[in-house]
Amino acid sequence: MATTHRTRMLILGSGPAGLTAAIYGARAGMNPIVVQGLQPGGQLTITTDVENYPGFRDVIQGPWLMQEMQAQAEHVGTRMVWDTITRVDLGQSPFRAFGDSGDIYEGDCVVIATGAQARWLGVPGEAALAGKGVSACATCDGFFYRGKTVVVIGGGNTAVEEALYLTNHAREVVLIHRRDSLRAERILQDRLAAHPKISVLWNKAVTSFIGDTALTGVALVDTVTGSTSELPTDGAFVAIGHAPATELFRDTLALDAGGYIVVAAGTPKTAIPGVFACGDVMDHTYRQAVTAAGTGCMAALDAERYLATRDFAALSEAAQ
Ligand code: FAD
Ligand code: NAP
Repeated sequence: MATTHRTRMLILGSGPAGLTAAIYGARAGMNPIVVQGLQPGGQLTITTDVENYPGFRDVIQGPWLMQEMQAQAEHVGTRMVWDTITRVDLGQSPFRAFGDSGDIYEGDCVVIATGAQARWLGVPGEAALAGKGVSACATCDGFFYRGKTVVVIGGGNTAVEEALYLTNHAREVVLIHRRDSLRAERILQDRLAAHPKISVLWNKAVTSFIGDTALTGVALVDTVTGSTSELPTDGAFVAIGHAPATELFRDTLALDAGGYIVVAAGTPKTAIPGVFACGDVMDHTYRQAVTAAGTGCMAALDAERYLATRDFAALSEAAQ
């Protein structure tokens, strides 16, 4: 039977932003509920080595870090629920979110931390061959390419990390990038250049994925000369960035040209008082675990101030 869950602080999303908001919210006595969504722990659960989250001298694993964050949030009083929100009503407080399970979540304030999802190229063959040679997650699917050849498409941190990771399994890794320079951090570029199993195809864009029941190759166009070619491959990993998960809020909150939630500069405040956004869902510039956690902290602190001001105003009104 459908249940209505009520909380002072409703958090949508369980990545670094949502869980940090939960840790601060719980410690401030707001009894937060975190609705986890389809990817409990968020994007870091599909990576391996994390070397830049402060506090750890040695390399740590993304899934482990997120388990620890969740354990910390629960330890201080957060309630985690396994559900995915399919609709929201942000018209007035208590704000309401409707779960895929049929349950309804009501919050005096809402923290949106729904993050981002992998972006696809949208070229012929991609959807049909997804799971049959085409993937967006090397750590999930790299194992299937032991001793084989794979391509990685993209030029950012994710693409380079995916290429490096795939060398653990594949015989040969080809990075395909549409320009002649990478966007990835220098340290990752250096590792890529030094790796004997990796080569880079510069100025090439994938125009289609070739294969009948399984991927056999990619069709390419040279972005400078316009010449076309085909490259045989057993696997293709699309690593061209992520799109913010904001479809739910399209009708109620302002989104920028990239689909990110618009917040007041330097804050997690949306145009609706009591509704906050933090992490990758509102940040198209930094998109790091530590910045997501930082804005999650800010959202919880601002939520606490919002509720305190609102409660004080209600008490004053009642006293008159
Ligand atoms: P996310 O981690 O994207 O979490 C979003 C959460 O929202 C998920 O729990 C999801 O289930 C939930 N959600 C979505 N829709 C709904 C819904 N409708 N209802 C309920 N819940 C919903 N950053 C670093 O700092 N260091 C790294 O080494 C690093 N490595 C990375 C490697 C990879 C492969 C990728 C993809 C990213 C990496 N990043 C790294 C970036 C980092 O993972 C993100 O910046 C960070 O996870 C963003 O946190 P977030 O909480 O905003 O969102
Ligand atoms: P990103 O930095 O946005 O890079 C996306 C790459 O894909 C770019 O090189 C882009 O090319 C290319 N691209 C985009 N659309 C394309 C298309 N249609 N066809 C071909 N190529 C296309 O995305 P990301 O690498 O996923 O990183 C996202 C964020 O997470 C970043 O802030 C990153 O720093 C962070 N992250 C950090 C780490 C880490 O710290 N170790 C690891 C992974 C991710 P152009 O360069 O030509 O635009």
